[in-house]
Amino acid sequence: MTEPYLLTPGPLTTSRTVKEAMLRDWGSRDGAFIALNRRIRARLVELANAADSHVAVPVQGSGTFAVEAMIGTLVPRDGKLLVLINGAYGKRIQRMAEVIGRRVVAIEVAEDQPVDPATLDDALSADADITHVAVVHCETTSGILNPVEAVADIVARHGRRLLIDSMSAFGALPLDAARVPFEAVAASANKCLEGVPGMGFVIARADALAAAKGNAHSLSLDLHDQWRGFEANAQWRFTPPTHVLAAFGQALDEHEAEGGVAGRGARYAVNGRILIDGMRGLGFETLLPDALQAPIIVTFRMPADPAFVFDAFYDQLRERGFVIYPGKLTVADSFRIGCIGRLGAAEMRAALDAIRATLDAMGVASGAP
Ligand SMILES: *Cc1c(COP(=O)(O)O)cnc(C)c1O
Repeated sequence: MTEPYLLTPGPLTTSRTVKEAMLRDWGSRDGAFIALNRRIRARLVELANAADSHVAVPVQGSGTFAVEAMIGTLVPRDGKLLVLINGAYGKRIQRMAEVIGRRVVAIEVAEDQPVDPATLDDALSADADITHVAVVHCETTSGILNPVEAVADIVARHGRRLLIDSMSAFGALPLDAARVPFEAVAASANKCLEGVPGMGFVIARADALAAAKGNAHSLSLDLHDQWRGFEANAQWRFTPPTHVLAAFGQALDEHEAEGGVAGRGARYAVNGRILIDGMRGLGFETLLPDALQAPIIVTFRMPADPAFVFDAFYDQLRERGFVIYPGKLTVADSFRIGCIGRLGAAEMRAALDAIRATLDAMGVASGAP
């Protein structure tokens, strides 16, 4: 085996054809490159069923850059943001708003609990100053699926605006603008869309972007300006990540060929089922009950057996060809295994074989916490 499989939530394993799409150089004003950008932007709004109301604005950098561009551009300087938090990515949005200098409040629940629409309802009733609500679709900290549809209903009922971080869900879990009214959603090339890292994007209401001139705290993260640039001449304001876009165009074609969001989500659901059932068979316990678990990344409680040493487990799995992910939780000692990327049932079963062999080599009788 030459390269390990990445059982991580991004960067993740990509197809050979996605990697091969990067084997040429592109001029940023090249007609073919401009056509590629147009195609990518159009496909992204289609994936959210938002072509009539929204536009896609790509942003250089990792996913966090796109989220920060969304918050800084769409929450006006005199606006107030309410962040629903149940993990590190919600906390990151709160921190961004503080750094940018926007008024921000939060409703925080434990990492193994979904965000609560009823508490949100009360908070919006109590505070008329709140203009925007931010929520994380799948909180990658734990792998929990948040109830974005119920959250969107309440935000709409109160006449406020919803900003979604769907980084680790977009492309695999449905997010339909007709069912989940949102002002903007941020995601990136290198999670469920299986591109390579280097760019994020925001799908935002065109009317909101048009009204957002002068809001941004930053030149390079000004989504309004970035959008105006694309509309004016279909070009990026600053050096585009050309190879990342070439790979992303290929990745979007492969996503479509797999059956779009439904097809991608179905493969990940099978991957998740094989992983969870197999790990439970070895005695491991998941942090979350199945009803709250998104088919993206799974958190397992650390085994109690003193022979289990996480760093050794990680290293031996790496030698057997699989990279996993340490835990990021405050509620429990844990580690994570992703089920997204160019992996299917055969690779998930091979990962379980490697885990079984590693436990045997370490002398761990059971993964029970
Ligand atoms: C991966 C991820 C991000 C962005 O992380 P980057 O490291 O900046 O790409 C943001 N939110 C969620 C929920 C994520 O999973």
